Amino acid sequence: MNIFGSKRLRYFLQLCILVALCCGVAGKITLMSVAIPIFVSVILTNKIFCSYLCPLGFVSELAVKCKRVLKIKGYAIARNSLPDKLLRSIKYIILFLLVYIASPLAEASGIALLLFMVLIVVPSLFIDMFGCKYICPVGAASNILKFTLVFVGCSLLMWILRSADISIPIPVYVGVLCAIGYLLEIFTYKAEYNVSLLHIHRDKNKCTQCGECKKACPYSVNVSNVSRVVDIDCNLCGECVSECKEDALKVGICNTREGQNQIKGQWLPLLVIVIFILMVCYITSKAI
Ligand code: SF4
Ligand code: SF4
Repeated sequence: MNIFGSKRLRYFLQLCILVALCCGVAGKITLMSVAIPIFVSVILTNKIFCSYLCPLGFVSELAVKCKRVLKIKGYAIARNSLPDKLLRSIKYIILFLLVYIASPLAEASGIALLLFMVLIVVPSLFIDMFGCKYICPVGAASNILKFTLVFVGCSLLMWILRSADISIPIPVYVGVLCAIGYLLEIFTYKAEYNVSLLHIHRDKNKCTQCGECKKACPYSVNVSNVSRVVDIDCNLCGECVSECKEDALKVGICNTREGQNQIKGQWLPLLVIVIFILMVCYITSKAI
């Protein structure tokens, strides 16, 4: 059995994180202790943080499941439509504002944070993964990092300008990154300029085009149309992998030999998650 795509494992991990946060661990975790592991994991292994470790993602997915169980009709916002493109800007604006008004945010009350969580989670009862797709600033930062080459290019330019004594304030740098990330997202919907090791791969010889993977995907990614999923919304949740009865989908590193796709590193997601948790614990312990 492929451990990747195991819903039980994913829900167990997310629940553990949620319980740990509710038990007061949140107060001990600093921005840096999660920012560095997220930065490393997104660049090397895609948005696996969002699907396996983010408590908001977990609650949003629960909201989507409630919507289906309660048969709430809800709304669907078509990809590529004007509302979709406009709504996708919200998370970049929030990310920019978080950097711009960083100090007042650090003093934000628990109620303000709770309201923010409600804003992310409740709309998912009516529109699938609304908060993750349109509101969450971590999602915006992850998408910028998914355009790794663009991110590295901008950072290099910033470093060159600073070396030449041209001061660029951090909010301006983040604003430029947000603008570029947003434009790339709405015009391509793909994150191809990256160095991520992990993707979902489809074996065309096994696929019967049944379409079950798209139905199972919380973001309705059209998995059966591509040989490698590079969709900007894909967070490697593995729902499509576990739903495919033909065993046509795998996660890992694709190694094409003699015309045949060989997928390696299927154990990598689990390893990444363990390393991620250890990194957060280590950085937090150093900061206390
Ligand atoms: S569920 Fe599997 S067989 Fe069906 S379309 Fe998707 S990849 Fe192909
Ligand atoms: S394509 Fe959809 S279901 Fe498959 S891993 Fe990505 S987000 Fe999950």
